[in-house]
Amino acid sequence: MAEFIVEKSTATGFCSGVKRAIEIVENVARERGQVETLGAIVHNHQVLKRLDDIGVKVVDSIDDIKGDTIVIGAHGVSPQLEKELRQRVKEVIDTTSCPFVHRAQIAASRLAEAGFFTIIYGDANHPEVKGILGWAEGKGLATMDSNVISTLGSLPHHIGILSQTTQIPSGFTEFIKNVIDSLLTKDSEIRIIDTICHDIRKRQQAALELAGRVDVMLVIGSTTSANTNHLADLCSTVATTYFIETEDDILPSWFKGHQRIGVTGGASTSEDTINDVVARLEKMSRE
Ligand code: SF4
Repeated sequence: MAEFIVEKSTATGFCSGVKRAIEIVENVARERGQVETLGAIVHNHQVLKRLDDIGVKVVDSIDDIKGDTIVIGAHGVSPQLEKELRQRVKEVIDTTSCPFVHRAQIAASRLAEAGFFTIIYGDANHPEVKGILGWAEGKGLATMDSNVISTLGSLPHHIGILSQTTQIPSGFTEFIKNVIDSLLTKDSEIRIIDTICHDIRKRQQAALELAGRVDVMLVIGSTTSANTNHLADLCSTVATTYFIETEDDILPSWFKGHQRIGVTGGASTSEDTINDVVARLEKMSRE
């Protein structure tokens, strides 16, 4: 195989929110031997496997909790669910120390208090979005499709718009424009709050710049990770992009006739996983 150049994005590895959540749950598991988390604490299979090895067990629902302690993941939960958990177990450990997730939750709560109906630009099934909707006291909806807004019969006049923290900024801007267009003749008051995470913006920008000067991009992470999916979508607009989980997924045929390969990863992909991919590519290039 011909030699090629491998370049890693300048913004990779765990984001601060994921790093902190992992540290908290690791410490608890080491101290107590075992601990349960409600849902995956981060959306990355390699990280979850490593945590499982030290006693971190994932339970899918509140009814599956066996112990007296439960850990909440990095993307938070609604106040209602937190209350239910506190009634169910002795201790709730909240790893949602991320200021961006908190900001979105507080924004939704303030909008609800002020009588606004909250529209969240995001995946309605994602735990973070469900959590934020809970902070909006159920007075809101989540969607990626701005057309949904115009089909709603009667919307309140006071509308707040915010975003899931990991969305692509240009998509949010487009969504806002469309919502404004469909509400303008309805005497609405619209408040827009930019709740997209700074880490994600930086990561997407760096990946996009890199994708612009390579032939092939590899985006590393689990398919369950919203931000990694968005990163792959973004890169595929400028370069041939492959979404992989580890170095074992790489196929040499992808690089035939290509000189420059770029590598990036989502906020829940460890730097070790990224470095393993880079090392495998460099080895392939020498062979
Ligand atoms: S991706 Fe951003 S919002 Fe999500 S946990 Fe990381 S720093 Fe926080």
